[in-house]
Amino acid sequence: MSIERAMEILRKYPLCDHCLGRLFARLGTGLSNEERGRAIKDYLLMRIHEKVLNEGLSDELLSDIKALAMSGHEPSIKFLTNMGINVSPVKCYVCGDAIFNRLDEWANTIANNLRMLGVEFRSFRLGSRVPLDILNRELSITTEFNISSAESIKREINRELGKRVSAILGVPFNREEPDVEAVIDIGAGSVDVQVMPIYISARYRKIRRLINKGGRARWPIDKVMQAYGAQDVVIHTGGEDPMGARVLGNGRPVILQVVRPGRRPDVSDVYSLLNDSSYDIMLNNLTRVKASAVVRMKARIRDYVITYRVLAITSSPVTDENIRSLHDYFRNRQVVQVFRRGHRVRRRVSMVYELDGRVIRDRLVELLIRCQGNLYIRGFVHGGYGNVEPSIAGTLGFSIRPIEIDILSISD
Ligand SMILES: [Zn+2]
Repeated sequence: MSIERAMEILRKYPLCDHCLGRLFARLGTGLSNEERGRAIKDYLLMRIHEKVLNEGLSDELLSDIKALAMSGHEPSIKFLTNMGINVSPVKCYVCGDAIFNRLDEWANTIANNLRMLGVEFRSFRLGSRVPLDILNRELSITTEFNISSAESIKREINRELGKRVSAILGVPFNREEPDVEAVIDIGAGSVDVQVMPIYISARYRKIRRLINKGGRARWPIDKVMQAYGAQDVVIHTGGEDPMGARVLGNGRPVILQVVRPGRRPDVSDVYSLLNDSSYDIMLNNLTRVKASAVVRMKARIRDYVITYRVLAITSSPVTDENIRSLHDYFRNRQVVQVFRRGHRVRRRVSMVYELDGRVIRDRLVELLIRCQGNLYIRGFVHGGYGNVEPSIAGTLGFSIRPIEIDILSISD
């Protein structure tokens, strides 16, 4: 995009320094759009002046100076005044001169709204809603003059407001992971603010066998809420535990979503508050993560390798020979489980990698099963009423019921 085109554009559309400078955003690094727009207008006037000195003042040159003057270029206005011609600037075709002179005012409004949240924050993100007619006028110019080097007005507004808000509040702008977010509606002058959640990944262990309380474990959620001064905590677990199972060993992946935190303490300070054995859940390995970690964790569940310990009673005595044949049969064996819910049928395929066990008494066995994370363990043991193929019950040829299930390890 050549600077020469700027004159063509100004002949047709009066543009303020910001809106002209933005069209040439790739030229002159280190200049703001306003400085760039002003510099282009200075340059255009000097070229015209040079021609006037060499060739005299033609009607064309005079109308170009008038176009510059109408775009608010002071030296051009003075140039004409000296010739006894009065030209008043007109409003910028794109922004209507209604945006860039209000940035300080809006920045103050945004900063006040963020302060009024009453929460601690160390970074912020800023967005803006710009009236459609402004965006359309900007687009019509870049399209008409085939300009690819332009920056969007929205980006300039966000950057300029971001700088100002950052200076007022003394906290940096952070596009990726802000603590709070403000969105200003440029047309209405209103501001929406929100506190961004904190995501903490951890491993949890369920240290009690919860059989009588409906299987609901007590998480130290109140402690987490207290530590962060939060409104709520949403628990995203990497898979579900079998009813009544303990989760031992390295525990199961979990991500805690701390909703509307008022404080943002270091996770290590929070961890020390969670060492309380009156809860059913122990949390370990706490780390701050991004929101996207939840989706990534959920996507990996089926690839977990889980080792279960299952204590089970059988309808017939179990022999060492039975255990040996189970061990030999379930080595890297694919298991198909069919679930019916109403008319919907879901088929789940998972791998059993290894199975070991021992006879405790003639009808009581302990099994160690290493399998893929999506295996429904209880059904795999008792055969799921004919919905599992192959199952332990089916392989033994008599019925077997799990009475205790523990997760000994989960590798994710
Ligand atoms: Zn403008």
